[in-house]
Amino acid sequence: MFPRSIRRAAVAAALSLTLAVPLSAPVSAADRGPGAPGIGDVYFPDYGNGGYDVKHYNLKLGYQPGADRLEGKATLLATASQTLTRFNLDFLLDVQEVKVNGRTAAFARTGAHELEITPARALTRFLPFVVEVTYAGTPGSVEVPGIVRPWIKRADGALALGEPEIAWWWYPSNDHPADKATFDITVTVPEGKQAISNGVLVSQRTSRGKTTFHYLMDKPMATYLATLYIGDIEVHRARSSTGLPVTTAYDKSLTSPRLEFAKASVERTAEIIDWESSVFGRYPFSSMGGSVVNENVGFALETQSHPVYDSIFFESGPDVSVVVHENAHQWFGDSVALEQWRDIWLNEGFATYAEWLWSEKEGTGTAAELANAIYDDIPADHPRFWVRVPGDPTPPFLFYASVYWRGGMTLQALRGEVGDEDFFAILKAWARTKQHGNGDTGEFISLSEKISGKQLDSLFQTWLFEPGKPAHPPAAVTAQAARAQAGPPASYESHKRFHELLHGPI
Ligand SMILES: [Zn+2]
Repeated sequence: MFPRSIRRAAVAAALSLTLAVPLSAPVSAADRGPGAPGIGDVYFPDYGNGGYDVKHYNLKLGYQPGADRLEGKATLLATASQTLTRFNLDFLLDVQEVKVNGRTAAFARTGAHELEITPARALTRFLPFVVEVTYAGTPGSVEVPGIVRPWIKRADGALALGEPEIAWWWYPSNDHPADKATFDITVTVPEGKQAISNGVLVSQRTSRGKTTFHYLMDKPMATYLATLYIGDIEVHRARSSTGLPVTTAYDKSLTSPRLEFAKASVERTAEIIDWESSVFGRYPFSSMGGSVVNENVGFALETQSHPVYDSIFFESGPDVSVVVHENAHQWFGDSVALEQWRDIWLNEGFATYAEWLWSEKEGTGTAAELANAIYDDIPADHPRFWVRVPGDPTPPFLFYASVYWRGGMTLQALRGEVGDEDFFAILKAWARTKQHGNGDTGEFISLSEKISGKQLDSLFQTWLFEPGKPAHPPAAVTAQAARAQAGPPASYESHKRFHELLHGPI
């Protein structure tokens, strides 16, 4: 059920034991062999890989816009969790050479996206190793059946943006949020082009007609949260009130009034993060910002420390909700990452609830009113909404509306049950105790029960797992509140519009 946490505990225990064991101690057959081609995700069994844990990615990339030519060398620092005779990375581009611990290694393609690597010598359990992969390709021409290609080739550059799939198109990885690592991302582009990625811009140098940007993400990051945005981009660099670098970026092809609406929203990032820090606890990263792309991706994504927004969100006016949502993910989804994709409501329900809390602060409708308005608005016989449960949505419905809205209603039901003081203590404790790690639904329920002292299984069962419309709305309605609240709150229509942009009609 919780493969990774169990493995970590086992590694820690074994590490302390190995000191007492002679080096020649026999290794059982189960501890020696090829690493599994998947990390153990119940929804995506072949995503990620077993047998090792990546600590750091150093990506050195060169990109030629127009030709969509990406050349790269990825150096991964990893630790073997078993004695490895062979292991996999997830990757799609053409590979020229693989070295493991400095020695040339054999490699082969298997499955839809596996790069199978056989080192010259088996890798010893618990010891670190280094993998170097040299590669090149045109990512925009690589298709995988059943997946919308997340690498977008543009006339002026490219955009790497997708969830869960994107890493395969631009760097080799252990592609699952259960294996987080720090990143150095260095990309060289023609002079005049900009390159945006995650974390702090360490350096930017131009020579002989080329500019090299070096970004450092110094906190662990899930592989899908790495982004690369290259092109003709208006870039603003500033500092937040807390002294962190703030990078905001706007596609130069954006025109009025969408550009102004986008700036009126995304330039409020530092202010929004200040408020979110007051609710969720200290901001977990060393930089912040956001990019607005003039590209029909149809979504915004919480890429770590630097969300990326489709400009469609700013079509008819400023939209702060989407900025609140993507930055709430910096705590819930990015810093506290998923252990299993099945638990996606831990990301989306929380980011949705953050939108409602913002509305509550702004006086345009409380979270309770918004949660109840959705409950009232969607009939019990809706063909999908109440049937697809947020606690186990199944892969095709990973980002379906109920994950967001019923996920948010779950938190509202919890808040009603435990009271405001315990509820906000739970949110903060979840962000703090799981910071830069991973969490799952069972752990969140346990934490909620521990802090509140209440038995909450049936509440979570009703809201997360039970198909059908729950018998009672997420927030208790007093007769007085019902009289005062005639119809949905002021911000309801804008929340609905935001989610319809993401999901289409509910
Ligand atoms: Zn989200």
